[in-house]
Amino acid sequence: MTLTATEYTMLIAGEPAEAMSGDRFVRESPAHDVVVGSYPSASAEDVDRAVEAARDAFDHGAWARESGAVRARALRRVAELIDEHSERLAYIEAVESGKPISQARGEMSATAELWWYAATLAQHAYGDAHNALGERYLGLTMREPVGVVGVITPWNFPLLIASQKVPFALAVGCTAVIKPSNLTPGTTVVLGELVREAGVPDGVLNVVTGRGPVGARLAEHPDVDMVTFTGSTEVGSKVMTAAARTLKRVGLELGGKNPQIVMADADLDAAVDAVVFGVYFNQGECCNSGSRLLVDAAIADELLERVVDRARDVPVGDPLDDNTLVGAIASPEQLATIERLVAEGKADGADLVLGGDRMETPAGRFYEPTVFANVAPSMSIAREEIFGPVLSAIRFNGIDEAIGIANSTVYGLSAGVWTRDIDSALTFARGARAGTVWVNCWMDGFPELSFGGYKQSGIGRELGRHAIDEFTELKTVTIHTGPRTMWVPTGDAA
Ligand code: NAD
Repeated sequence: MTLTATEYTMLIAGEPAEAMSGDRFVRESPAHDVVVGSYPSASAEDVDRAVEAARDAFDHGAWARESGAVRARALRRVAELIDEHSERLAYIEAVESGKPISQARGEMSATAELWWYAATLAQHAYGDAHNALGERYLGLTMREPVGVVGVITPWNFPLLIASQKVPFALAVGCTAVIKPSNLTPGTTVVLGELVREAGVPDGVLNVVTGRGPVGARLAEHPDVDMVTFTGSTEVGSKVMTAAARTLKRVGLELGGKNPQIVMADADLDAAVDAVVFGVYFNQGECCNSGSRLLVDAAIADELLERVVDRARDVPVGDPLDDNTLVGAIASPEQLATIERLVAEGKADGADLVLGGDRMETPAGRFYEPTVFANVAPSMSIAREEIFGPVLSAIRFNGIDEAIGIANSTVYGLSAGVWTRDIDSALTFARGARAGTVWVNCWMDGFPELSFGGYKQSGIGRELGRHAIDEFTELKTVTIHTGPRTMWVPTGDAA
């Protein structure tokens, strides 16, 4: 197949927009080294224009004042349009990010589900009535949209992550400006077009494209009420610092070094499958990557042998081939990070039992599925997010030691346990310092279930009904009826 380059524009106030400078940047497909997209290179002035449009739509437009039912109808239409355009969207993600097309297709249907679910929340952003404040008072707490939301997203699941944020913000009446990663902006630009086509008013969603400074401007902008960011812990910290200048609310979904614990009594067939899927899915470029395997010493040799056997058979190759399960690494920088950490693992004395190198064929940026055994929790391959197809296996003796090792990194995004014993499952679920715990499954996500990190994996929760809290302020209204006791006594009272 001959790849061609698509020319994209930004979306500001409902109109296709170029950068004021006229500058553009391009993206090469990491698997094919061919330019597949050209995008406006926004500057601070372009961000300011987009924020002004979102501000105006929020302060003076109909969106925040509409009934939830009206907003829900528009969001459902976006979901339908995502389904209608899913093949085109999946293709864009595969060529821009290097992920397998079959997986990208699955992500598009999961993305549409997020818009369907957010639509239901649009009609449930209600509060409480307090009727026990004495006979003269009624207290109300009510949810109101937080305002203009700045959305900054990473390159690994561009449209899915945008859709963990945008429809939920829009559902409760917020307006937004989104900045996708400069490596994978295409589907977010198309999303802007679909949102318009669905009848969402101009200015409610604006899309700006560019590199880090575009996100930084969004995070510091005084007219942005909240910034919601998904990306690395390092940049998340910078976003929080920039947001602090105007004390805006932040939502942060950051990195992870997630452990899968396999107890001796586990269903090993299922566990092996989940370990291999968990670490190689999306080339390991996944916040939820199960990059640490914690295995009961009693079954460690057997389990590792089976994991290595399975990992050897994982088809790595052209993202546009339907049979590929592991595609290309997204960028030379990411490949360099993987290579640095693998070298450190070897130098630290871990046993490299599979892979450990970039692949000669196919051409492009591909990395071998890799397994390290006998990893110590103190090694960098057990502590740092590699964001590549590299598994670090650590042995443990007993559930308490497993919990201690699981909690021994700065991250706390997700964790999982494989066991047939309910006591072990619950002990681990309670002991793990992680926002999500999977028991006998891995990465099984639902729009209905909240997602977010403990510790340096983030702040706030997306999805589920808690998404309403994430994008709303809580207003208290105190109503008094009947005669009042005067603070300054009146002449009559004297
Ligand atoms: P990144 O932090 O490098 O970039 C994320 C976004 O921030 C990009 O759009 C980038 O242009 C922008 N950015 C860069 N510098 C900025 C600055 N100073 N101010 C504001 N914005 C700035 O992350 P990435 O490499 O695109 O993605 C990989 C990371 O994302 C990994 O650490 C991964 O774990 C994390 N991630 C987390 C989740 C989650 O839900 N917790 C999901 C996916 C990815």
